[in-house]
Amino acid sequence: MPSQEQKSIAILGSTGSIGVSTLEIVTAFPERYRVVSLTAGSNVSLLLRQIRQFKPEVVAVADESVVQQLRYEMGTEGPTILVGVEGLVSCATHPDAEMVVSAIVGAAGLIPTMAAVRAGKDIALANKEILVAAGELFMTEVARHGVRLIPVDSEHSAIFQSLAGQRGQDVRRLILTASGGPFRNTDLEALRSVSRADALAHPNWEMGQKITIDSATMMNKGLEVIEARWLFNLPAEQIAVHIHPQSIVHSLVEYRDGAVIAQLGVPDMKTPIAYALSWPERLPLKQDPLDLCRCGDLSFTEPDFERFACLDLAYQALKLGGTCPAVMNAANEIAVAAFLHEKIGFLQIPELISQVMKSHHPIAIRELEQVLDADSWGRQQATKLITEGVN
Ligand code: NAD
Ligand code: MG
Repeated sequence: MPSQEQKSIAILGSTGSIGVSTLEIVTAFPERYRVVSLTAGSNVSLLLRQIRQFKPEVVAVADESVVQQLRYEMGTEGPTILVGVEGLVSCATHPDAEMVVSAIVGAAGLIPTMAAVRAGKDIALANKEILVAAGELFMTEVARHGVRLIPVDSEHSAIFQSLAGQRGQDVRRLILTASGGPFRNTDLEALRSVSRADALAHPNWEMGQKITIDSATMMNKGLEVIEARWLFNLPAEQIAVHIHPQSIVHSLVEYRDGAVIAQLGVPDMKTPIAYALSWPERLPLKQDPLDLCRCGDLSFTEPDFERFACLDLAYQALKLGGTCPAVMNAANEIAVAAFLHEKIGFLQIPELISQVMKSHHPIAIRELEQVLDADSWGRQQATKLITEGVN
Protein backbone atom coordinates (compact mmCIF):
# COMPACT_ATOMS: atom_id res chain seq x y z
CA MET A 1 0.00 0.00 0.00
CA PRO A 2 1.28 3.49 -0.76
CA SER A 3 2.11 5.63 2.25
CA GLN A 4 -0.06 8.67 2.95
CA GLU A 5 2.34 11.17 1.41
CA GLN A 6 3.09 9.09 -1.64
CA LYS A 7 1.40 10.23 -4.84
CA SER A 8 0.50 7.50 -7.31
CA ILE A 9 1.17 8.52 -10.88
CA ALA A 10 0.54 7.22 -14.38
CA ILE A 11 3.02 8.24 -17.07
CA LEU A 12 1.84 8.36 -20.67
CA GLY A 13 4.89 8.38 -22.94
CA SER A 14 7.40 7.13 -20.34
CA THR A 15 10.18 6.41 -22.85
CA GLY A 16 10.22 9.95 -24.26
CA SER A 17 12.26 12.93 -23.18
CA ILE A 18 9.64 14.19 -20.70
CA GLY A 19 8.79 10.64 -19.56
CA VAL A 20 12.43 9.86 -18.76
CA SER A 21 12.90 13.17 -16.89
CA THR A 22 9.73 12.47 -14.90
CA LEU A 23 11.08 9.07 -13.88
CA GLU A 24 14.36 10.68 -12.83
CA ILE A 25 12.34 12.78 -10.39
CA VAL A 26 10.51 9.68 -9.15
CA THR A 27 13.92 8.03 -8.62
CA ALA A 28 15.17 11.02 -6.65
CA PHE A 29 12.03 11.15 -4.46
CA PRO A 30 10.90 7.53 -3.99
CA GLU A 31 9.08 8.40 -0.77
CA ARG A 32 6.95 10.92 -2.69
CA TYR A 33 5.97 9.10 -5.89
CA ARG A 34 4.86 5.65 -6.90
CA VAL A 35 4.38 4.63 -10.53
CA VAL A 36 1.20 2.67 -11.19
CA SER A 37 1.26 2.61 -14.98
CA LEU A 38 3.59 3.37 -17.88
CA THR A 39 2.94 3.62 -21.58
CA ALA A 40 5.39 3.63 -24.46
CA GLY A 41 5.52 3.36 -28.22
CA SER A 42 8.11 0.85 -29.38
CA ASN A 43 11.26 1.37 -27.30
CA VAL A 44 11.17 -2.11 -25.73
CA SER A 45 14.61 -2.08 -24.12
CA LEU A 46 14.01 1.20 -22.27
CA LEU A 47 10.50 0.19 -21.25
CA LEU A 48 11.84 -3.10 -19.87
CA ARG A 49 14.38 -1.25 -17.75
CA GLN A 50 11.63 1.08 -16.51
CA ILE A 51 9.36 -1.85 -15.66
CA ARG A 52 12.13 -3.53 -13.67
CA GLN A 53 12.98 -0.36 -11.79
CA PHE A 54 9.53 1.13 -11.12
CA LYS A 55 7.37 -2.01 -11.01
CA PRO A 56 4.17 -0.55 -12.46
CA GLU A 57 1.00 -2.62 -12.23
CA VAL A 58 0.05 -2.02 -15.85
CA VAL A 59 1.87 -0.98 -19.02
CA ALA A 60 0.53 -0.19 -22.48
CA VAL A 61 2.40 -0.29 -25.75
CA ALA A 62 1.64 0.67 -29.33
CA ASP A 63 1.29 -2.72 -30.99
CA GLU A 64 1.08 -6.47 -30.55
CA SER A 65 4.68 -7.17 -31.63
CA VAL A 66 5.95 -5.12 -28.70
CA VAL A 67 3.64 -7.05 -26.36
CA GLN A 68 5.19 -10.34 -27.53
CA GLN A 69 8.72 -9.04 -26.97
CA LEU A 70 7.87 -7.77 -23.49
CA ARG A 71 6.15 -11.07 -22.53
CA TYR A 72 9.16 -13.02 -23.77
CA GLU A 73 11.56 -10.88 -21.68
CA MET A 74 9.37 -10.74 -18.56
CA GLY A 75 8.27 -14.39 -18.48
CA THR A 76 5.44 -14.88 -16.01
CA GLU A 77 6.55 -11.94 -13.90
CA GLY A 78 5.83 -8.30 -14.33
CA PRO A 79 2.86 -6.08 -15.00
CA THR A 80 -0.28 -6.56 -17.02
CA ILE A 81 0.60 -5.64 -20.61
CA LEU A 82 -2.04 -3.90 -22.70
CA VAL A 83 -1.98 -2.65 -26.26
CA GLY A 84 -3.25 0.21 -28.45
CA VAL A 85 -5.56 3.08 -27.57
CA GLU A 86 -7.59 0.95 -25.15
CA GLY A 87 -4.40 0.07 -23.33
CA LEU A 88 -3.46 3.75 -23.11
CA VAL A 89 -6.90 4.57 -21.71
CA SER A 90 -6.66 1.80 -19.08
CA CYS A 91 -3.28 3.13 -17.96
CA ALA A 92 -4.58 6.72 -17.88
CA THR A 93 -7.64 5.78 -15.82
CA HIS A 94 -6.00 3.24 -13.50
CA PRO A 95 -8.05 3.34 -10.27
CA ASP A 96 -4.96 3.98 -8.12
CA ALA A 97 -3.55 6.85 -10.22
CA GLU A 98 -4.03 10.26 -8.64
CA MET A 99 -2.13 12.16 -11.28
CA VAL A 100 -1.47 11.44 -14.95
CA VAL A 101 1.65 12.82 -16.60
CA SER A 102 0.55 13.40 -20.19
CA ALA A 103 3.78 13.16 -22.21
CA ILE A 104 2.87 11.34 -25.40
CA VAL A 105 3.83 13.46 -28.40
CA GLY A 106 1.10 14.66 -30.74
CA ALA A 107 -2.66 14.25 -31.00
CA ALA A 108 -2.20 10.57 -30.08
CA GLY A 109 -2.26 11.76 -26.47
CA LEU A 110 -5.74 13.25 -26.74
CA ILE A 111 -7.96 10.21 -26.15
CA PRO A 112 -6.12 8.82 -23.09
CA THR A 113 -5.66 12.25 -21.50
CA MET A 114 -9.32 13.14 -22.01
CA ALA A 115 -10.22 9.76 -20.47
CA ALA A 116 -8.01 10.59 -17.47
CA VAL A 117 -9.80 13.93 -16.98
CA ARG A 118 -13.18 12.20 -17.21
CA ALA A 119 -11.99 9.68 -14.62
CA GLY A 120 -11.19 12.59 -12.26
CA LYS A 121 -7.38 12.39 -12.45
CA ASP A 122 -5.20 15.44 -11.96
CA ILE A 123 -3.10 16.13 -15.03
CA ALA A 124 0.52 17.24 -15.41
CA LEU A 125 0.30 18.35 -19.04
CA ALA A 126 3.34 18.24 -21.30
CA ASN A 127 1.43 17.32 -24.45
CA LYS A 128 0.52 20.70 -25.93
CA GLU A 129 -1.06 19.22 -29.08
CA ILE A 130 -4.07 18.21 -26.95
CA LEU A 131 -4.92 21.83 -26.20
CA VAL A 132 -4.19 22.84 -29.78
CA ALA A 133 -6.56 20.23 -31.21
CA ALA A 134 -9.29 20.34 -28.56
CA GLY A 135 -8.56 23.22 -26.19
CA GLU A 136 -12.07 24.45 -25.44
CA LEU A 137 -13.55 20.97 -25.12
CA PHE A 138 -10.69 19.77 -22.95
CA MET A 139 -10.89 22.77 -20.59
CA THR A 140 -14.66 22.32 -20.29
CA GLU A 141 -14.11 18.73 -19.18
CA VAL A 142 -11.35 19.80 -16.77
CA ALA A 143 -13.80 22.23 -15.15
CA ARG A 144 -16.69 19.76 -15.17
CA HIS A 145 -14.66 17.07 -13.41
CA GLY A 146 -12.93 19.47 -11.03
CA VAL A 147 -9.46 18.13 -11.83
CA ARG A 148 -6.22 20.07 -11.48
CA LEU A 149 -4.42 20.76 -14.72
CA ILE A 150 -0.83 21.81 -14.13
CA PRO A 151 1.29 22.80 -17.14
CA VAL A 152 4.65 21.14 -17.69
CA ASP A 153 5.66 23.16 -20.76
CA SER A 154 8.31 25.52 -19.36
CA GLU A 155 6.68 28.74 -20.67
CA HIS A 156 3.26 27.80 -19.31
CA SER A 157 4.73 26.66 -16.01
CA ALA A 158 6.41 30.08 -15.82
CA ILE A 159 3.11 31.86 -16.52
CA PHE A 160 1.25 29.63 -14.06
CA GLN A 161 3.83 30.61 -11.42
CA SER A 162 3.75 34.30 -12.40
CA LEU A 163 -0.05 34.34 -12.04
CA ALA A 164 -0.04 32.86 -8.54
CA GLY A 165 -1.83 35.10 -6.07
CA GLN A 166 -2.93 37.58 -8.77
CA ARG A 167 -6.39 38.41 -10.11
CA GLY A 168 -7.21 37.31 -13.65
CA GLN A 169 -8.80 40.67 -14.53
CA ASP A 170 -5.53 42.47 -13.74
CA VAL A 171 -3.60 40.67 -16.50
CA ARG A 172 -2.84 42.81 -19.55
CA ARG A 173 -0.94 40.21 -21.55
CA LEU A 174 1.14 37.08 -21.43
CA ILE A 175 4.59 37.10 -23.00
CA LEU A 176 5.91 33.72 -24.10
CA THR A 177 9.63 33.58 -24.63
CA ALA A 178 11.14 31.56 -27.48
CA SER A 179 14.79 30.64 -27.97
CA GLY A 180 14.39 31.13 -31.72
CA GLY A 181 15.86 27.67 -32.30
CA PRO A 182 18.87 26.84 -34.46
CA PHE A 183 17.77 29.14 -37.33
CA ARG A 184 17.15 32.29 -35.33
CA ASN A 185 19.57 34.24 -37.53
CA THR A 186 19.28 32.25 -40.76
CA ASP A 187 17.87 34.20 -43.68
CA LEU A 188 14.82 33.00 -45.59
CA GLU A 189 16.72 31.87 -48.67
CA ALA A 190 19.18 29.82 -46.62
CA LEU A 191 16.28 28.18 -44.74
CA ARG A 192 15.28 26.52 -48.01
CA SER A 193 18.26 24.19 -47.91
CA VAL A 194 18.75 23.45 -44.21
CA SER A 195 19.14 19.76 -43.45
CA ARG A 196 17.42 17.43 -41.01
CA ALA A 197 20.61 17.37 -38.91
CA ASP A 198 20.80 21.20 -38.84
CA ALA A 199 17.17 21.37 -37.70
CA LEU A 200 17.68 18.74 -34.99
CA ALA A 201 20.57 20.68 -33.43
CA HIS A 202 18.67 22.79 -30.88
CA PRO A 203 20.93 25.25 -29.09
CA ASN A 204 19.38 25.10 -25.58
CA TRP A 205 17.03 22.15 -25.00
CA GLU A 206 17.32 18.35 -25.31
CA MET A 207 13.92 17.14 -26.51
CA GLY A 208 12.12 14.59 -28.66
CA GLN A 209 12.54 14.91 -32.45
CA LYS A 210 9.08 16.27 -33.25
CA ILE A 211 9.24 19.19 -30.81
CA THR A 212 12.83 19.89 -31.85
CA ILE A 213 11.72 20.38 -35.47
CA ASP A 214 8.74 22.40 -34.22
CA SER A 215 11.22 24.63 -32.38
CA ALA A 216 13.25 25.11 -35.57
CA THR A 217 10.15 26.15 -37.57
CA MET A 218 8.77 28.02 -34.52
CA MET A 219 5.54 26.05 -34.87
CA ASN A 220 6.34 25.04 -31.31
CA LYS A 221 5.77 28.65 -30.21
CA GLY A 222 2.61 28.79 -32.30
CA LEU A 223 1.31 25.65 -30.59
CA GLU A 224 2.25 27.25 -27.27
CA VAL A 225 0.28 30.41 -28.04
CA ILE A 226 -2.79 28.22 -28.57
CA GLU A 227 -1.93 26.20 -25.46
CA ALA A 228 -1.74 29.46 -23.44
CA ARG A 229 -5.02 30.69 -24.92
CA TRP A 230 -6.86 27.73 -23.37
CA LEU A 231 -4.84 27.21 -20.20
CA PHE A 232 -5.15 30.82 -19.12
CA ASN A 233 -8.37 31.76 -20.93
CA LEU A 234 -7.02 34.80 -22.76
CA PRO A 235 -7.55 35.76 -26.42
CA ALA A 236 -4.70 35.66 -28.95
CA GLU A 237 -4.41 39.48 -28.91
CA GLN A 238 -3.26 39.25 -25.29
CA ILE A 239 -0.59 36.64 -25.96
CA ALA A 240 2.74 37.90 -27.34
CA VAL A 241 5.98 36.14 -28.24
CA HIS A 242 9.48 37.49 -27.59
CA ILE A 243 12.64 35.89 -28.92
CA HIS A 244 14.98 35.33 -25.99
CA PRO A 245 17.94 33.22 -27.14
CA GLN A 246 19.29 32.50 -23.65
CA SER A 247 16.16 30.62 -22.46
CA ILE A 248 16.63 31.97 -18.93
CA VAL A 249 13.41 33.98 -18.60
CA HIS A 250 10.87 31.21 -19.17
CA SER A 251 7.92 33.59 -19.73
CA LEU A 252 6.27 36.69 -18.28
CA VAL A 253 2.93 38.16 -17.27
CA GLU A 254 2.30 41.87 -17.73
CA TYR A 255 -0.30 43.44 -15.42
CA ARG A 256 -2.47 46.50 -16.01
CA ASP A 257 -0.45 48.67 -13.64
CA GLY A 258 2.64 48.03 -15.80
CA ALA A 259 4.17 45.48 -13.44
CA VAL A 260 5.71 42.45 -15.13
CA ILE A 261 6.23 39.19 -13.28
CA ALA A 262 8.50 36.55 -14.79
CA GLN A 263 9.88 33.16 -13.79
CA LEU A 264 13.57 32.48 -14.45
CA GLY A 265 15.80 29.44 -14.25
CA VAL A 266 18.37 27.34 -16.05
CA PRO A 267 16.86 25.59 -19.08
CA ASP A 268 16.09 22.16 -17.61
CA MET A 269 12.67 20.53 -17.95
CA LYS A 270 13.07 18.84 -14.58
CA THR A 271 12.11 22.08 -12.82
CA PRO A 272 8.68 22.48 -14.45
CA ILE A 273 8.04 18.72 -14.33
CA ALA A 274 8.84 18.59 -10.62
CA TYR A 275 6.69 21.64 -10.00
CA ALA A 276 3.72 20.02 -11.76
CA LEU A 277 4.19 16.83 -9.73
CA SER A 278 4.57 18.55 -6.38
CA TRP A 279 2.44 21.71 -6.71
CA PRO A 280 1.92 23.70 -4.54
CA GLU A 281 5.10 22.48 -2.87
CA ARG A 282 8.57 22.65 -4.41
CA LEU A 283 10.97 19.73 -4.39
CA PRO A 284 14.62 20.21 -3.39
CA LEU A 285 16.10 19.37 -6.82
CA LYS A 286 19.85 18.89 -7.06
CA GLN A 287 20.55 21.41 -9.78
CA ASP A 288 23.12 24.05 -10.51
CA PRO A 289 21.50 27.30 -9.41
CA LEU A 290 20.92 30.07 -11.92
CA ASP A 291 23.88 32.43 -11.63
CA LEU A 292 22.63 35.70 -13.10
CA CYS A 293 26.02 37.34 -12.61
CA ARG A 294 27.64 34.79 -14.91
CA CYS A 295 24.98 33.92 -17.46
CA GLY A 296 25.77 36.89 -19.70
CA ASP A 297 23.37 39.37 -21.26
CA LEU A 298 19.69 38.56 -21.56
CA SER A 299 18.19 39.83 -24.81
CA PHE A 300 14.68 40.08 -26.23
CA THR A 301 13.48 40.79 -29.77
CA GLU A 302 10.27 40.46 -31.78
CA PRO A 303 9.76 37.30 -33.84
CA ASP A 304 10.00 37.40 -37.63
CA PHE A 305 6.66 36.12 -38.92
CA GLU A 306 7.93 35.99 -42.50
CA ARG A 307 10.87 33.69 -41.90
CA PHE A 308 8.88 31.68 -39.36
CA ALA A 309 5.56 31.36 -41.18
CA CYS A 310 4.43 28.55 -38.86
CA LEU A 311 4.06 31.03 -36.02
CA ASP A 312 1.79 33.14 -38.19
CA LEU A 313 -0.21 30.06 -39.24
CA ALA A 314 -0.87 29.20 -35.60
CA TYR A 315 -2.22 32.71 -34.85
CA GLN A 316 -4.40 32.40 -37.97
CA ALA A 317 -5.69 28.98 -36.90
CA LEU A 318 -6.58 30.37 -33.48
CA LYS A 319 -8.47 33.23 -35.10
CA LEU A 320 -10.35 30.92 -37.48
CA GLY A 321 -11.17 28.67 -34.53
CA GLY A 322 -13.33 25.53 -34.42
CA THR A 323 -11.61 22.59 -36.10
CA CYS A 324 -8.91 24.74 -37.74
CA PRO A 325 -6.21 24.32 -35.05
CA ALA A 326 -6.80 20.53 -35.01
CA VAL A 327 -6.31 20.42 -38.78
CA MET A 328 -3.24 22.64 -38.58
CA ASN A 329 -1.76 20.42 -35.89
CA ALA A 330 -2.44 17.25 -37.87
CA ALA A 331 -0.90 18.71 -41.03
CA ASN A 332 2.12 19.80 -39.00
CA GLU A 333 2.60 16.32 -37.55
CA ILE A 334 2.58 14.83 -41.06
CA ALA A 335 4.84 17.56 -42.45
CA VAL A 336 7.38 17.18 -39.64
CA ALA A 337 7.45 13.39 -40.07
CA ALA A 338 7.99 13.89 -43.83
CA PHE A 339 10.81 16.36 -43.18
CA LEU A 340 12.42 13.91 -40.73
CA HIS A 341 12.21 11.24 -43.46
CA GLU A 342 13.77 13.76 -45.86
CA LYS A 343 10.74 13.67 -48.16
CA ILE A 344 10.16 17.43 -48.02
CA GLY A 345 12.34 20.46 -47.42
CA PHE A 346 12.25 22.74 -44.38
CA LEU A 347 10.22 25.54 -45.97
CA GLN A 348 7.74 23.04 -47.37
CA ILE A 349 6.58 22.43 -43.78
CA PRO A 350 4.72 25.78 -43.51
CA GLU A 351 3.75 25.59 -47.19
CA LEU A 352 2.08 22.24 -46.70
CA ILE A 353 0.27 23.30 -43.53
CA SER A 354 -0.92 26.49 -45.18
CA GLN A 355 -2.33 24.60 -48.17
CA VAL A 356 -4.17 22.15 -45.93
CA MET A 357 -5.59 25.00 -43.82
CA LYS A 358 -6.77 26.84 -46.96
CA SER A 359 -8.76 23.83 -48.11
CA HIS A 360 -10.43 23.37 -44.71
CA HIS A 361 -13.81 24.77 -43.71
CA PRO A 362 -13.72 24.91 -39.92
CA ILE A 363 -16.74 23.86 -37.91
CA ALA A 364 -17.48 24.52 -34.24
CA ILE A 365 -16.47 21.69 -31.92
CA ARG A 366 -19.08 20.16 -29.64
CA GLU A 367 -17.65 16.69 -29.13
CA LEU A 368 -14.42 14.75 -29.26
CA GLU A 369 -15.46 12.85 -32.38
CA GLN A 370 -15.35 16.08 -34.40
CA VAL A 371 -11.78 16.74 -33.28
CA LEU A 372 -10.74 13.21 -34.22
CA ASP A 373 -12.40 13.59 -37.63
CA ALA A 374 -10.66 16.94 -38.24
CA ASP A 375 -7.37 15.38 -37.16
CA SER A 376 -7.70 12.47 -39.62
CA TRP A 377 -8.85 14.81 -42.39
CA GLY A 378 -5.79 17.04 -41.85
CA ARG A 379 -3.49 14.01 -41.93
CA GLN A 380 -5.06 12.68 -45.13
CA GLN A 381 -4.85 16.03 -46.91
CA ALA A 382 -1.25 16.57 -45.88
CA THR A 383 -0.28 13.05 -46.91
CA LYS A 384 -1.99 13.52 -50.28
CA LEU A 385 -0.12 16.77 -50.90
CA ILE A 386 3.21 15.13 -50.09
CA THR A 387 2.45 12.24 -52.44
CA GLU A 388 1.46 14.66 -55.20
CA GLY A 389 4.53 16.79 -54.49
CA VAL A 390 3.96 19.96 -52.44
CA ASN A 391 5.26 23.18 -54.05
P1 NAD B 1 9.39 12.14 -27.31
O1 NAD B 1 9.27 11.89 -28.76
O2 NAD B 1 10.74 12.14 -26.70
O3 NAD B 1 8.50 11.06 -26.52
C1 NAD B 1 7.18 10.77 -26.87
C2 NAD B 1 6.65 9.60 -26.08
O4 NAD B 1 5.34 9.29 -26.60
C3 NAD B 1 7.47 8.32 -26.20
O5 NAD B 1 7.37 7.57 -25.01
C4 NAD B 1 6.77 7.57 -27.32
O6 NAD B 1 6.96 6.18 -27.27
C5 NAD B 1 5.32 7.94 -27.07
N1 NAD B 1 4.50 7.92 -28.27
C6 NAD B 1 4.76 8.55 -29.45
N2 NAD B 1 3.76 8.33 -30.33
C7 NAD B 1 2.86 7.55 -29.69
C8 NAD B 1 1.62 6.97 -30.08
N3 NAD B 1 1.11 7.15 -31.30
N4 NAD B 1 0.96 6.22 -29.17
C9 NAD B 1 1.47 6.03 -27.95
N5 NAD B 1 2.63 6.54 -27.52
C10 NAD B 1 3.33 7.28 -28.39
O7 NAD B 1 8.63 13.50 -27.01
P2 NAD B 1 8.92 14.56 -25.84
O8 NAD B 1 9.97 15.50 -26.29
O9 NAD B 1 9.06 13.87 -24.53
O10 NAD B 1 7.55 15.39 -25.87
C11 NAD B 1 6.34 14.87 -25.35
C12 NAD B 1 5.31 15.96 -25.31
O11 NAD B 1 5.73 16.96 -24.38
C13 NAD B 1 5.12 16.69 -26.65
O12 NAD B 1 3.79 17.04 -26.81
C14 NAD B 1 5.97 17.94 -26.51
O13 NAD B 1 5.50 19.02 -27.28
C15 NAD B 1 5.81 18.22 -25.03
N6 NAD B 1 6.94 18.97 -24.45
C16 NAD B 1 8.19 18.44 -24.47
C17 NAD B 1 9.25 19.15 -23.95
C18 NAD B 1 10.65 18.54 -23.93
O14 NAD B 1 11.55 19.17 -23.39
N7 NAD B 1 10.88 17.38 -24.48
C19 NAD B 1 9.05 20.42 -23.42
C20 NAD B 1 7.76 20.94 -23.41
C21 NAD B 1 6.70 20.20 -23.93
MG1 MG C 1 7.88 25.12 -24.29
